[in-house]
Amino acid sequence: MTTDELKALIRTVPDFPSPGIQFRDITTLLGHGAGLAATMKHLAKAAELAGAEVIAGMEARGFIFGTGVAVELGIGFIPIRKPGKLPIKTIGVDYDLEYGTDRLEIDPAAIAPGQRVVMVDDLIATGGTALAAADLLRQAGGIVEQALFVIDLPELGGAEKLRSAGVTVDALMA
Ligand code: IMP
Repeated sequence: MTTDELKALIRTVPDFPSPGIQFRDITTLLGHGAGLAATMKHLAKAAELAGAEVIAGMEARGFIFGTGVAVELGIGFIPIRKPGKLPIKTIGVDYDLEYGTDRLEIDPAAIAPGQRVVMVDDLIATGGTALAAADLLRQAGGIVEQALFVIDLPELGGAEKLRSAGVTVDALMA
């Protein structure tokens, strides 16, 4: 399937989670078998070209796409988790949201020193989440030079922010 066909499988929900926000909802893409498989193949091809040795995905939708890509390539997956979920001593990073802050955590032993990590998530908006994730993966010893998304919202500047931090951003659609 082409990326235009995949785009048609994603629904836009107005005023979610708050008034004025046009929420891009991938639930409809996930429910379409051929669309889901094609999405994983497109992302996996890009991850392979980037030399991925391990995939990392952000909770929660990054788990879906990231695991699919890792399985396609036969490599491992690192879950980047919301705080307090991992049953071990973690390393974490706090980052700013539009209102308030959030935190991401990983297992510090998840990455071998110098391992090439490709990040995967459903969508990049301001880039705050992906930037924090890249910081965390680098703290754990990973080489992070590529992030892949199903959707980029370029008007929010996230991809540009990631590029400034040395991370190339590719998305299947805008
Ligand atoms: P950012 O940190 O501003 O780039 O926001 C990206 C994060 O918020 C990702 O983990 C997305 O899953 C989530 N997100 C933001 N906007 C949307 C949307 O319209 N649809 C789905 N997820 C979104």
